[in-house]
Amino acid sequence: APAVFTGTDFYQRSFNPQEYLREFYRLSDSQGQPNTFLMENLRALLKMFSLEGLRGHTLIDVGCGPTIYQLLSACERFQEIIALDYTDQNRRELEKWLKKEVGAFDWRPVVEYVCELEGDREKWAEKEEKLRRKVRQVLKCDVTKANPTEPVALPPADCVVSTLCLEAACEDLATFRSALRNVGALVKPGGHLVMVTVLRETYYAFNNQVFSCLRLEKKEVEEAVEGAGFDVRFSEVQPCPPGDVRADCEAVLSLVARKRASSS
Ligand code: SAH
Repeated sequence: APAVFTGTDFYQRSFNPQEYLREFYRLSDSQGQPNTFLMENLRALLKMFSLEGLRGHTLIDVGCGPTIYQLLSACERFQEIIALDYTDQNRRELEKWLKKEVGAFDWRPVVEYVCELEGDREKWAEKEEKLRRKVRQVLKCDVTKANPTEPVALPPADCVVSTLCLEAACEDLATFRSALRNVGALVKPGGHLVMVTVLRETYYAFNNQVFSCLRLEKKEVEEAVEGAGFDVRFSEVQPCPPGDVRADCEAVLSLVARKRASSS
């Protein structure tokens, strides 16, 4: 594990989006081994975005990084999507895919896999177009700020999704809890928070760079979500197979919570 916390400056300087995508977002690795981490997360996202009430006008993706997998089932249920991330290069990499620029990451195998889970593998091109149409803004954010999109004030959304971001962005549990309150404030009362979080991970590495991760227990995440004004509706743990040199994650938590009315 790295001795020091890798904060926003380190992300801006050292996070290479193309290497990140190559390392973690291909369906199978160079030896042809399936990417079970990704496949399980896609299944969990489909399950969560199929729950009753998970629909509405606006969805905000917090700490989107250069990835779109977290939006593939979500885009069937929301009209407009706003994607947020701290680093310039990650937002730029996402824009490349949105605008079909040369050199953009090829998400097709992942989109096909999700379409197959949803019942029709042949709908991949349609889903890609739908998602591109729905992503209206890609903005800078910092989850440690009371208003993460400052100076932009976004109207509260029907849903916020955040995958693998807060545990990377927060140095300690107190910061994690306050980041959840900051992110939670982006959701309307009655709206939803959808999270995919690694448990008991202290680092992840790619491209010869090591990134710190806040070591979290399931209960700590749930308590932080509740402390941010939400009721947990769904919470499921998927163990990670041990022996991965790229990260020391023990499990993945998928969680859906609903924001309480402001009076309660
Ligand atoms: N959601 C993507 C990316 C996760 S990697 C996925 O599921 O793969 C972690 C992301 O958190 C990076 O894109 C990084 O830029 C972002 N990040 C780190 N610190 C942040 C902060 N303080 N505020 C917002 N985003 C941050």
